[in-house]
Amino acid sequence: MTTDSRDFAALKEDVALSHRLMYRTGLGTTRGHTSARIEGTDTFLIKPWPHVQMHRVVADDLIIMDFEGNIVGGNVQTKTKVSEWPIHAELYKAYPNLGSVLHTHQKWASMMAIAGQTILPVIDAELATPVAEPAPVFDEDKALIRRVEQGKAVAAKMKDAVACHLQNHGMVFAGPNVPTVTMEAIAIEYQAEMTWRAQLIGKPGVLTNATLRPALDKRARGEVSEAWEHYWRWADEHPDSLRPRSADL
Ligand SMILES: [Zn+2]
Repeated sequence: MTTDSRDFAALKEDVALSHRLMYRTGLGTTRGHTSARIEGTDTFLIKPWPHVQMHRVVADDLIIMDFEGNIVGGNVQTKTKVSEWPIHAELYKAYPNLGSVLHTHQKWASMMAIAGQTILPVIDAELATPVAEPAPVFDEDKALIRRVEQGKAVAAKMKDAVACHLQNHGMVFAGPNVPTVTMEAIAIEYQAEMTWRAQLIGKPGVLTNATLRPALDKRARGEVSEAWEHYWRWADEHPDSLRPRSADL
């Protein structure tokens, strides 16, 4: 796919957009990064550190790294990389089918693991599939994942899960493409907040597997939700539209 220069340009645009959406949806301001495997190579696209603020990331800011942590292309003047690059490299190494990896320190989802609680599929089947199964919890190491051995351990814990908690740290998402992992990070934050708030006032009811099945099948087929093109790309260009989503008074 990425041998075509037009497709490669689109891949870069998606990775950049993912960072802006992380910022716009409250998943991160400075912490967090999305990567995309460059198909047919042992390299991936990722945001550099710390030169580019999350909400300003554009395609030309991105660097290309190999699985050993070297910067091998992209915006090579940057010369710096995110310290937690082993999360990305080790997941790509362990699971050749993965197209994209995303890491956040997002608030509500992280809070649920800190409290020892499971995020439940409680609202909107399309948005609940990331927690159709409980996300595994990586609790062997609560430090930032800056060493290759730590990255390998996270990959071993994650297996084929959509998302994995890093205990007292954050979340990792892995999937077939950038739109999918980005929308799942946003969706899981929604489920986490709603699970928590529902638990404050009662016992949450959950969506059944039968209700979730069509959306799960869609993901298994590698289909990208239309929301990426029809809503999130538009929302990036109209950030005011997102304000009602975070109406904490
Ligand atoms: Zn982190």
